[in-house]
Amino acid sequence: MKDALADADARIIAQFEARQPRGLARAISRAEAGRGAELMQRFFARTGRAVTIGLTGPPGVGKSTLCSGLIAVARADGKSVGVISVDPSSPFSHGAILGDRIRLTEHYTDAEVFIRSMASRGHLGGLAGATGDAVALMDAFGKDVVIVETVGVGQSEIEIAELADTTLVALQPGSGDSVQLLKAGILEIADIFVMNKADHPMALQLQREIRGMMEMLDFTGWVPELVATRARENVGLTELWAAISRHGAYLRDSGELARKRGRAFSYRVRALVMGRVQERVTRRIASLTAHPERDDPYSVAEEIARPIEDAVPDSPEAVEARAPVSTVRGL
Ligand code: GDP
Repeated sequence: MKDALADADARIIAQFEARQPRGLARAISRAEAGRGAELMQRFFARTGRAVTIGLTGPPGVGKSTLCSGLIAVARADGKSVGVISVDPSSPFSHGAILGDRIRLTEHYTDAEVFIRSMASRGHLGGLAGATGDAVALMDAFGKDVVIVETVGVGQSEIEIAELADTTLVALQPGSGDSVQLLKAGILEIADIFVMNKADHPMALQLQREIRGMMEMLDFTGWVPELVATRARENVGLTELWAAISRHGAYLRDSGELARKRGRAFSYRVRALVMGRVQERVTRRIASLTAHPERDDPYSVAEEIARPIEDAVPDSPEAVEARAPVSTVRGL
């Protein structure tokens, strides 16, 4: 079994190295199945070159259309592109099946465009684990631009913002979306607001709403830009690309890119560790609580958590904070 896996890995690596899209596809499938650690270890050193873009917004706002337009602009600029379309509603994607909402068919025949849809549930380390792996693999494969598209509902877009260099939040006029987004805390993650369907009569009002909401937030450094688009007519996409480039330049010049990627790194480590520990702990809880009448929840939690706490070395700061005052002062 182990050898069969190693053989398969060797084939994937050979295809990957030869820049065959099939190698990339299979590597992502491996990662998605939670069996990609060796491949990831091998390829991770090559990451960090790609510009990563998160694109989120409510269903129907035009994310797929925008994504398709962005691909076209990036391709015209000579960039190769990877797209990960995250579907938070389906537990499994089996990699190959693209949801109806993907309107990227015009790029299917372009060998420099790689499109992958992914389910967000049922992965080790959740979305950050599987999607993070896919982003890293596309980056290592040599994609210049990686776009992660996800529906703006729930937790997934917050996670995307942790992984992407630049986060786009798409809104449309006349939908009341902006209020919903404010409630969900999505506004804070936007580097660029994209007002799609900008020819709608309520466009001006939405613009005012976004500006109004931005006044309530505190910005240091980058102030989110607002770009109006009509994705279906291919209007505003060059301007959007220019805004993305400005944000990229800001990140590099300010040193924020290194900090952001440092945070993304620890976010991914956290997702991977928690995913692994959670699996083990979940099984342990199940077996220890099969007969709950015998104990109270605190004793069971102690029995499970204590060995983990004892096994993981604490940070020096936390140890110091817990020490009696006299020890800290050296008295
Ligand atoms: P998603 O669910 O956010 O991915 O949205 P889609 O890209 O699938 O678009 C949803 C619908 O909006 C489709 O029928 C698009 O053709 C349409 N659409 C996209 N962009 C525009 C636009 O700029 N103006 C108008 N009026 N419709 C658009």
